Amino acid sequence: MSDSPSDKPASHYLQTVAVQPELDIAPGFASFSPATHRGSTVVFRNLAELRAHGDGATTYWRYGLHATPTSEALCQHLALLEGARHTLLQPSGLAAISLVYFALLKSGDDVLVPHNVYGPNRDHGEWLARDFGVTVRYYDPMDAAAVPALIQPNTRLIWMESPGSVTMEVPDCGAIVAAARARGVLTAIDNTWSAGVYFRPFELGIDISVQALTKYQSGGSDVLMGAVLTCDDALHARLKRTRMLMGWGVSADDCHLVLRSLPSLPVRLAAHDRAAREVAEWLHQRPEVARVLHPALPDCPGHANWRREFTGASGLFAIVLRERYTRQQVDAFVEALQLFAIGWSWGGAHSLAVPYHVQGMRPAGTWPPAGWHDTGELVRLYIGLEDTRDLIADLRQAIEATLAA
Ligand SMILES: *Cc1c(COP(=O)(O)O)cnc(C)c1O
Repeated sequence: MSDSPSDKPASHYLQTVAVQPELDIAPGFASFSPATHRGSTVVFRNLAELRAHGDGATTYWRYGLHATPTSEALCQHLALLEGARHTLLQPSGLAAISLVYFALLKSGDDVLVPHNVYGPNRDHGEWLARDFGVTVRYYDPMDAAAVPALIQPNTRLIWMESPGSVTMEVPDCGAIVAAARARGVLTAIDNTWSAGVYFRPFELGIDISVQALTKYQSGGSDVLMGAVLTCDDALHARLKRTRMLMGWGVSADDCHLVLRSLPSLPVRLAAHDRAAREVAEWLHQRPEVARVLHPALPDCPGHANWRREFTGASGLFAIVLRERYTRQQVDAFVEALQLFAIGWSWGGAHSLAVPYHVQGMRPAGTWPPAGWHDTGELVRLYIGLEDTRDLIADLRQAIEATLAA
């Protein structure tokens, strides 16, 4: 195959012109938008290059599933933001979690998972336990001192999430990492809540960070993607090999959408942070609310850990209503909200609310925490980018219509 179109003999047959047209596009176009390189077939200049594919020295590109210049731009951009060396992109945040499990665990291995972990992560672990001979054990994320005694000779991985899903406890990640490192156990954190901006996993010595790019990095509520970030070359190579064997990849168009949103990521997070704290503080004053579980407020378990390990908070938190309200009343409260939509996937511009019955989601005896009184139903709130005066007015009208005594 020739290097450039001008080397080719011109064809007089329409079908060949349709496939291989000789185009004359002026060079020198420049814009801020990274180009979207779509491609399944990667074209090599000659057979030597094709046969050497994958050695990294002769040619970097080998197959559209593994990498394109567009996915590579997103990988490097994300690594710079979170302080990593390597990024692997996955078709969802859950697929990023799955990659970590399949790359690091085999039959006979053990993994420790916090009991407040993201629900589908727990389901994934239970599947591995049921069908793949891996043992999955839960630990109390607020009892880091108990972690060393839980580590067994076959423990390969400790998951962390900060704050935990739905109930928002902030663990002492530094202490958990120290326990893992002392025994040569790898650590992974689901760092989606901070988007890699407010919590710096690699500075704490965590080996792997998982991001659901679906949330803040996309920012548009319209892309599903995940990332696995590392600083260690050998660990990255292990993860990358598993990704290749599984046939996982992402679309260049989706990468383009995330790349478009990254320049505004820190300023969007700062706006979500400011607004969420304002709404959380307003809710804290309401007599209907027993607790506000927002890491930046002292009510939240692990608030001191948040102060030590984070530089900010994002837009997702929870409230616990007083015990006297029934599940039906709390459902009615959520449905009475007009500006908060009902939906799972946060990180975009729109505010969201979802009620949770936590007892059914956690190992027995872990909710409510010891010493808590008046613990009713939980509502998770995501504060988007609407004006907080409207959001607070909406919460007030819904509370007055459905909960006021
Ligand atoms: C949303 C989310 C995920 C999963 O992301 P998807 O792209 O929806 O699969 C993983 N972890 C956390 C903490 C999340 O909030």
